[in-house]
Amino acid sequence: MKDLAHRICSSKKVDSALELLKRSSFRSKFKLTGQDRQYIQDKGIETIKDHAFDFINSRIASQFPKNDGKQTPMKGHPVFIAQHATATCCRGCLQKWHRIQKGRALSDNEAGFIVSLIMGWIEKQIGGGENEFIKQQ
Ligand SMILES: [Zn+2]
Repeated sequence: MKDLAHRICSSKKVDSALELLKRSSFRSKFKLTGQDRQYIQDKGIETIKDHAFDFINSRIASQFPKNDGKQTPMKGHPVFIAQHATATCCRGCLQKWHRIQKGRALSDNEAGFIVSLIMGWIEKQIGGGENEFIKQQ
């Protein structure tokens, strides 16, 4: 329930960020592959969300992330693709696109927003929105 409430109040911010990203031809080039889609189907969307939290916490959230700017691979996991598509791949992109300052650790709210953005993008890629995806499970 707590998660649902958070989703509802943050969804507007996520939607407007996704709309803005659509205008970037570079960001729009990123798409999930068939393999990525299969991986999401196999693991389930909640597991993918856990992975997104793990990646953000381990690679992005600290004050000075390791290899910042190059820490997110271009393939190998649907969350990596989503991070490039949503400009949440490094602190430079987060600062430029989402006005999240670098040089300090992310707050829980910021990490939550980033994960919502990643999951929002993935859900749109899968098509039909989250509810339909859950119905198929
Ligand atoms: Zn980046």
